[in-house]
Amino acid sequence: MKIYLESLGCRLNYSEMESLGRQLTDAGHAVVDAAEQADVCVLNTCAVTGEAGRKSRQLARRLARSNPAARLAITGCYATLAPETVAALPNVELVVENRRKEMLAELLQPWSAELDGEQWRRLAPDAPLHLPGRTRAFVKVQDGCNNRCTFCIVTVARGPERSRPAAEIVAEVQRLTAEGFQEAVLTGVHLGGYGLAELPSFPKDGNSASPLHTLTAAILEQTELPRLRLSSLEPWDIDPAFFDLWAQSQGRLCPHLHLPLQSGCDRTLKRMARRTRTASFRALVEAARAAIPDLTLSTDMIAGFPGESAADFEESLRFVEEMAFAHIHVFPYSAREGTAAASFGGQVPVEERRQRVDALEAVARRSAEAVRRSLLGQTRPVLWETLERPANGAGPLWSGLTDNYLRTHAIAPPGIDLENRITPARLTALDGEVLWGQLGACPVTRNP
Ligand code: SF4
Repeated sequence: MKIYLESLGCRLNYSEMESLGRQLTDAGHAVVDAAEQADVCVLNTCAVTGEAGRKSRQLARRLARSNPAARLAITGCYATLAPETVAALPNVELVVENRRKEMLAELLQPWSAELDGEQWRRLAPDAPLHLPGRTRAFVKVQDGCNNRCTFCIVTVARGPERSRPAAEIVAEVQRLTAEGFQEAVLTGVHLGGYGLAELPSFPKDGNSASPLHTLTAAILEQTELPRLRLSSLEPWDIDPAFFDLWAQSQGRLCPHLHLPLQSGCDRTLKRMARRTRTASFRALVEAARAAIPDLTLSTDMIAGFPGESAADFEESLRFVEEMAFAHIHVFPYSAREGTAAASFGGQVPVEERRQRVDALEAVARRSAEAVRRSLLGQTRPVLWETLERPANGAGPLWSGLTDNYLRTHAIAPPGIDLENRITPARLTALDGEVLWGQLGACPVTRNP
């Protein structure tokens, strides 16, 4: 079968489609780049906000229009929360809720016999898994969340926490490294909860190395992976010794952390049932910056949470400005049916939420610029991903990400292929949120 995989939402969704892609390729199917070429389209949906649910329906309809002959299999959080609505969409022949998502390859099997008319044929067993243009692999290490943030629908859609065995994850990273991936991103719904559900006796004193700490150390010790990145980490999950990993990694553990704050006001954090407060968040950030040179931080913020007064919001805004984030994802509060906050009093008018989003995004832009300007003149390793435009005499323009997760462009000498290569680049200028890097000053390895 020719299968097209599409995903919306979080990195976890993308990593799940990547591992499904590997399973399907292993099983002899072809993962194609466009729905028009496919016998089957698989869509991994998102439901984190009402808007995400709408986009999931819209994308499913677009897939059906782009290839009326293809069968649609829909999975993910929106399919889990609204299976009937999804089943009623055009061409949808299979709805798979999150708890059965890992069986997707098997669930698609019967279609193979019908569509291929023959048993599964094997592609060359050493068929490369490293798809062109792919430089970073998302590695799912756990699923579900046992926290109960009052705005969050993910716990409903994803269920309780469960984690993959560390040895299996290390083996996957070894395989990805052998396939040529330069970077892997550990991801999960509640990454910091990795291994805790399987270790009920794990001391909650915060002094023991967490299972995520141990897993990260194992990957750094047992693989040759050039760059390891951690996706979103809840601030209360980080043990004090966690930051020592960066010093031990000799630059392989990326100096970037995504720490969702959601609000910079303790009254609002309390109503969100977030297990952090501004004082502990500030202390954590100070400890991280002291331990990890040139660390950059990003975060998520909700504007207009029920009961958030104008004064609460001003307090939140000032705290966010103080934290000097390199990037802030700003969301207007979205009431999700099935969450506690949806029935809270003090719902903030939509227009007011909009204005608070604008105010937060203005702070985000100022902080983003200040962080990037502070790094100008530095030389940083950049993983080059894409060629932005063909050579036009000034040399090809490449786009990539620094180790501390900043988008960087550079002009390379003609004929140099930087795709999926990590090279040092001196950061010389800033254009909006994009840094310009200079390659001249450093040796560039020619693609064989
Ligand atoms: S930690 Fe909170 S916001 Fe994050 S997935 Fe769990 S319940 Fe949702």
